[in-house]
Amino acid sequence: MRVLSGVQPSGTLHIGNYFGAIRQFIELQNEHECYYFLADLHALTTVRDPDRMRALVRELAAGYLALGLDPERSVIYRQADMPEIPELTWYLSTVTSMGLLQRCHSFKDKVAQGVVPNHGLFTYPVLMAADILIVRSDLVPVGKDQKQHLEVTRDIAASFHATYGVEVFTLPEPLIRDDVAVIPGVDGQKMSKSYGNTIDIFGPEKPIRKRIMSLVTDSTPVEDPKPKEGNALYQLLKIFAPAEDREWVERAFVEGGVGYGDMKKRLFEYFLATFGQARARYDELMADPAEVDRILLAGADRARETVAPLMDDVRRAVGIR
Ligand code: ATP
Ligand code: MG
Repeated sequence: MRVLSGVQPSGTLHIGNYFGAIRQFIELQNEHECYYFLADLHALTTVRDPDRMRALVRELAAGYLALGLDPERSVIYRQADMPEIPELTWYLSTVTSMGLLQRCHSFKDKVAQGVVPNHGLFTYPVLMAADILIVRSDLVPVGKDQKQHLEVTRDIAASFHATYGVEVFTLPEPLIRDDVAVIPGVDGQKMSKSYGNTIDIFGPEKPIRKRIMSLVTDSTPVEDPKPKEGNALYQLLKIFAPAEDREWVERAFVEGGVGYGDMKKRLFEYFLATFGQARARYDELMADPAEVDRILLAGADRARETVAPLMDDVRRAVGIR
């Protein structure tokens, strides 16, 4: 099967990106033909500083590689190195109804969070449909927030097929793991690069520890049992705790006697144990930007070869060729 997914360089990689998406990317590399891209065109809808944009792309690429995406097994590339993607976006946008985009939750959520919307943010599901359809992917591993966009992608492909009377696209399926579908941020909302509520994977330890210690909790006294339902700290401890500590986590909540502060310290230890190796590798990669650039350009060459036949079919279907 062909797998495709991506992450926006709209901020620093966080544990929601890892558990919701990137961990699945890594697992899938062993069995499938995988395409993993850096969604830099998408990030332009929120990142306005060109130097920051360049830095974020490099950090994301280093993050992908440090976490275990392997350029020998997967095609890793930047969206902006693929001019076919915006071209396909345009063809798709002409068969996409306004109503379909107006119904998208992600857009509404971002506006509700105070992101000032622009046309690009509104139409981003069409660009996303192009990302996915262009490599004829079968499977798209994502977090739950992207489920609706996968449905939109299928709708747009079907609309193209109905309009032109030819089946050029493969209809993709989302791959969403229920247990990590929505990782909560330190404020209890969905963790998001653009919401300022992230626990970052890379960067200095101190601010990460501080973030973890700032996780919102209720005022249950130390000796009392703690509520598990809707408790972001519980959810994160369960995801991070090694097998031998899972019972400790359960008991800490059910029996009481452990304060939230101590639990957060544990969470930070689990964090370091989980990401220590990747963090060291990340620092090495950040010191060798030429190597990272080389990998991305080689990936784009491979991806452009893959998409050429599909783009021929599409151009012929619409009558441009
Ligand atoms: P932004 O705030 O700019 O949208 P983001 O943090 O939502 O950034 P994306 O680049 O939009 O990250 O998403 C990359 C992948 O990570 C997607 O598959 C998305 O579903 C997944 N993801 C993002 N946040 C979470 C989360 N809190 N829990 C689970 N998966 C997530
Ligand atoms: Mg997002």
